[in-house]
Amino acid sequence: MTAHFVQFPCLVDNYGVLVHDSATGATASIDAPDAEAVLAALDAQGWTLTDILVTHHHADHVQGIRGLKARFPDVRVVAPAKEAAKIGGVDLTVNELDTVRVGELAAKVIETPGHTAGHIVYWFEAQDTLFAGDTLFALGCGRVLETPLDTMYDSLMKLTHLPLETNIYAGHEYTVSNARFALTVDPTNVVLKERAAQVEALRAEGKPTLPTTLAIELATNPFLRADNPDVQTAVGMAGADPAAVFADLRERKNKA
Ligand SMILES: [Zn+2]
Repeated sequence: MTAHFVQFPCLVDNYGVLVHDSATGATASIDAPDAEAVLAALDAQGWTLTDILVTHHHADHVQGIRGLKARFPDVRVVAPAKEAAKIGGVDLTVNELDTVRVGELAAKVIETPGHTAGHIVYWFEAQDTLFAGDTLFALGCGRVLETPLDTMYDSLMKLTHLPLETNIYAGHEYTVSNARFALTVDPTNVVLKERAAQVEALRAEGKPTLPTTLAIELATNPFLRADNPDVQTAVGMAGADPAAVFADLRERKNKA
C-alpha cells in the first residue's frame, strides 16, 4: 500500500492534487478545479482517474467534474451530503466520520462548516495527510461565507487535534498574503518571522509553499492561535474568549 501525492497549480491560484494507490492503480483528484489541468497531471503520470473527492461546492473546486467524467465515464464523484445538490453529478455522498476508499487507501471525512456550510476535509490517517480544501490554508483560513464565525472556529479547532506531523494540502496558494497579514497580528513570533521570509523566497522562485504541517501551522497560523497571549495582546484583546479573537482576526483579514 503505497500512496503517491502529486500537487500542481491551476487556474489563478488553485492547487489540484492527485492521490494514487500504487497497489490497485486507483487515482483520485482532490476537487476538480480545472479538467484540463487535472487531465494533464494524470497523463504526465500515466494514471487513470477513478475518483473525485470534493471538499465543497464552489465553482473553482467542482467545475472540472463534467470534463473529467467525459474522459473517464466510470469515475466516482464523492461529495459532502449537505452540498451534493449544489454540486451535481455526485455518485456518493458522505458525512462526518465516513470512510472513503481510493483503492486500498482510506480517508476519513471530517465536517468543517464555515467557508461553506457543508464543507468537508479528507484525512488519510495512515499517510498522515489532510486535504483541507478552503478551510485551512498555510498561515490562513478560508473566508467564512455560510456560517457564523464561531462555527468556523470550531471547525479549525477540530483539525488541531490531528497528529502534529499531519501534512496539510489546501485549495489555494495564498501564503504570501497570509504571511504578511500574520506578521501584523503576531509580530513578536520569531518562528513566524522565519517562515514568512521562507515563504517570500519560495514564491519568488515560483515554488509552492504547500503542503504544510499541523505543527508548523500551530506555531505560525494566527487563526489557530486565537488563544495565544501574544496574539491577543497584539489585537488588544488580552484575556478574551478565543472564538471572539478569531472573529476579530478574520474580520481584520477580510479588510486587509
Ligand atoms: Zn471555496
